[in-house]
Amino acid sequence: MGVTVETHASLAEAARAVEAGATLIAGGTIVMRRVNAGDQRLSRTVRVADPAFARISGGGGTISIGAGATMAAIAAHRDLDFLAPVARQLGGPALRNMATIGGNLFARAPYGDMAVALLALGARVTGTSGARPVEDLLRARDRAGLVFAIEVPRPRPGEFAWAKITRVHPYGSPVLTIAVHAPREGGRLRGVRVAFGGMGPGPVRATGAERALEGQPLDAATIARAAQAAAEGLEPVDDAVASAWYRREVAGVHLRRVLEGMS
Ligand SMILES: Cc1cc2nc3c(=O)[nH]c(=O)nc-3n(C[C@H](O)[C@H](O)[C@H](O)COP(=O)(O)OP(=O)(O)OC[C@H]3O[C@@H](n4cnc5c(N)ncnc54)[C@H](O)[C@@H]3O)c2cc1C
Repeated sequence: MGVTVETHASLAEAARAVEAGATLIAGGTIVMRRVNAGDQRLSRTVRVADPAFARISGGGGTISIGAGATMAAIAAHRDLDFLAPVARQLGGPALRNMATIGGNLFARAPYGDMAVALLALGARVTGTSGARPVEDLLRARDRAGLVFAIEVPRPRPGEFAWAKITRVHPYGSPVLTIAVHAPREGGRLRGVRVAFGGMGPGPVRATGAERALEGQPLDAATIARAAQAAAEGLEPVDDAVASAWYRREVAGVHLRRVLEGMS
């Protein structure tokens, strides 16, 4: 069976096609593998030519990033300095010119580096399923519809950190990805969010570590307690990159290093 490729000039048209069962090809770095492997479920595919799909706008408190924005565009955008390090460490240069932020939300573990950052930042998505936290989309990716854009709150300087732990540098698959958003009020952490990649079937929050951090000063004792609780309740991925046992063992070590860098 052949594969049809439709190019739609507007997001609304593309959304209708996706609602009718077509598969979106964004950057294509994941989905084209399936096409090339002859996956029969991909008989109808859709591309979006609407410039709004890749638009990055709003430089104040919240920045709207079109789901079709590539990692290269994010890395180069003056208002996205806090996400640039994430975008720059995703794959190699050719991949970053194709791979989109929207597609990253659908990447299977251990990929999803940008999605881990968005989860920690408390970003929201807009799309055919309305507006909702990125966390809700990550819980039910099979019923996501078409994502139009991601609304990302800009963190205050020094309150966001991200790290990718790989065995092969610089472009290896991640053993773990860690993102921490640690707002502080009066010297204490308020509204802390810690997210991991590689510690679950997709990006997940480390609620044990968050509990250890919330309301505390970011000092050595708090960091030690958060590191101890890092893997609490999580089910790490077991794959060719690292065993689940190994990921569980090192999650706290790497979280501690990230937190020390923020203290
Ligand atoms: C060699 C190689 C290295 C890689 N390295 C990394 C890495 O270091 N880190 C990492 O995180 N990932 C990595 N990836 C995975 C992938 O490239 C990225 O996750 C990328 O961001 C996926 O985006 P895409 O636009 O290419 O997705 P696509 O392949 O276009 O789409 C993937 C899936 O998401 C769906 N989709 C895409 N956009 C939307 C949308 N807006 N709304 C609804 N559904 C949508 C598609 O329909 C498809 O099912 C790598 C891949 C390869 C091949």
